[in-house]
Amino acid sequence: MKKAIYPGSFDPITLGHLNIVKRACKLFDEVDIVILNNPNKHYFFEANTRKELIEGALIEQEIKNCRVVVYDQLLVEYAKKTGITNVIRGLRMVTDFEYEFQLNAINKKLFPEIETHFFMTDEKYSFLSSSTVREIAHFKGDISQFVTKNVELCFNNL
Ligand code: ADP
Repeated sequence: MKKAIYPGSFDPITLGHLNIVKRACKLFDEVDIVILNNPNKHYFFEANTRKELIEGALIEQEIKNCRVVVYDQLLVEYAKKTGITNVIRGLRMVTDFEYEFQLNAINKKLFPEIETHFFMTDEKYSFLSSSTVREIAHFKGDISQFVTKNVELCFNNL
């Protein structure tokens, strides 16, 4: 079985993330979506809410070969623990590249077996980020074309 890890904040999961998940699922038999806690970030949704939102989104989009995990240690520790050394990340623009380049180098130093696979964003999601969705939702704007129904409902119920 070919397995991969898709780590991130997913605060919340967007159609951009889901596009990457779907494409990764064509190359890997199983993808673990791993919600990591970056101490430098302040999150809008609790980790468990983010997990529920991802699980609901996967059902809505009929994506089956994924599991969702909350993990509060380093990504490399998750990789060592599970033996999954393939990592998926998405790239939108040049600014993503710089950040991802650094992250990849650090992960390699910590655990050389790690292999990160980069998926170029689908053009229609190249501008889309969780923070954009939060910002639009904050001002009661329409986020329906950026997220699944369950995520939209969650914002409506805040
Ligand atoms: P992190 O805090 O680890 O950057 P994110 O949830 O913001 O977590 O992103 C997780 C991964 O998904 C990153 O590799 C990011 O570049 C990618 N990603 C986020 N939004 C998109 C999108 N619209 N298209 C492609 N990749 C994306």
